[in-house]
Amino acid sequence: MSTYELRCRECGKAWGNQPRSICEDCFSPLEVAYDYDSIRPHVSRELFASRAPNLWRYRELLPLPAGCQPSLPTGYTPLLSAPQLGQRIGSHNLYLKNDAVCLPTLSFKDRVVAVALANARHFGFDTVACSSTGNLANSVAAQAAREGFKAWIFIPSDLEPAKILGTQVFGAQLVRINGNYDQVNRLCSQIADERRWGFVNVNLRPYYAEGSKTVGFEIAEQLGWRLPDNIVVPMAGGSLITKIRKAFEELILLGLVEPKPVKFFGAQATGCSPISTAVKYSSEIEPQKPATIARSLAIGNPADGHYAVKAITASGGWSEDVSDGEVVASIQLLAESEGIFTETAGGVTVGTARKLIRQDRILAEETTVLCITGNGLKTTDVLAGKYETETPIAPKLREFEALLESKLSGVAHLAGGAPALPVSTETPALPLEA
Ligand SMILES: *Cc1c(COP(=O)(O)O)cnc(C)c1O
Ligand SMILES: [Zn+2]
Repeated sequence: MSTYELRCRECGKAWGNQPRSICEDCFSPLEVAYDYDSIRPHVSRELFASRAPNLWRYRELLPLPAGCQPSLPTGYTPLLSAPQLGQRIGSHNLYLKNDAVCLPTLSFKDRVVAVALANARHFGFDTVACSSTGNLANSVAAQAAREGFKAWIFIPSDLEPAKILGTQVFGAQLVRINGNYDQVNRLCSQIADERRWGFVNVNLRPYYAEGSKTVGFEIAEQLGWRLPDNIVVPMAGGSLITKIRKAFEELILLGLVEPKPVKFFGAQATGCSPISTAVKYSSEIEPQKPATIARSLAIGNPADGHYAVKAITASGGWSEDVSDGEVVASIQLLAESEGIFTETAGGVTVGTARKLIRQDRILAEETTVLCITGNGLKTTDVLAGKYETETPIAPKLREFEALLESKLSGVAHLAGGAPALPVSTETPALPLEA
């Protein structure tokens, strides 16, 4: 007897365990439901803490088929306190959940893919696939290679070069589509109906989505089995934010943390903000045509948007969005203040948090966690032109001293092709080389 099965989110009908994401009776999404009473006697803080530092330590709360022995050590990324960023944006109790260093492909998508592939194996698929805004593509390709699946990856053609290369290198079949993510995703639904392929975010979506809960489990454990006051989460399809909420609810239900209301704050880029727009104007989701540099979040018709809005408003939280300029400035701010280089989604999160603090929706003394979900090395193109290309100097101490002096005196470094810099008039500490 399994401790979990698929259930319709609206009509409640049970669907057992199978690769399916929609209820045939009412066309609502399916979700994994657990028998918590049978799980409760088998879990404890001590048990989880005694296991290896990866997301499988919470396996009783994940949909893992019997006998499944996952080996990839993904998850359990650092939760860092961030006093310097806090000082810059006005929080005395700020934490960063740093999935920019999630393994194996440096985004939180490694979590959802790990859980999806465990189920793909169980359901007998030899080919896995996905529609992706970039990070999911990298993660499916990498984990498919390791687990011995064939992989077909469908992406909008305008993704960042690093995300394209970071898919191809794993030997996956890459299909670039002239269209946006929503069009790519629609095509994938059609293909999933025709072929026996495990689409991680289509027919395996309910299992995939459960992987996101591990972000919430880890945050609670890393805070000493406490829940924060606030959490700021970037939203694309809106799944991650709803699953962190589910994780916190499960921990309360199982007696692993003290009950506490947590405010959920959603973050989007203004150029693709269907969820934050719905929250701000208390309306239904209206699909948008994405136009933002935050490509990993560029889903104009979010599958879980409706549930994300409900999770945010029910928690007493809010949602905001920031311009592309603020995204870039926030990437730089996080890097300069805390030494973390995040991708555009992380810039969206930091920029949105700053806005929410200025709006007094998040207060300085409260414990606030920002979810940094991806790595900046994948989206370096957005920083093009932000830093000058330094003119090289000869490997001579004299030239370095001159350079140092010009920098310290605030003189702009000479542009390319400039004559040799003048020798410093100050007495050098060491003899100058000729
Ligand atoms: C996919 C993604 C998200 C959001 O995921 P959803 O669950 O679809 O809302 C956030 N950050 C990054 C970097 C992502 O790749
Ligand atoms: Zn139903």
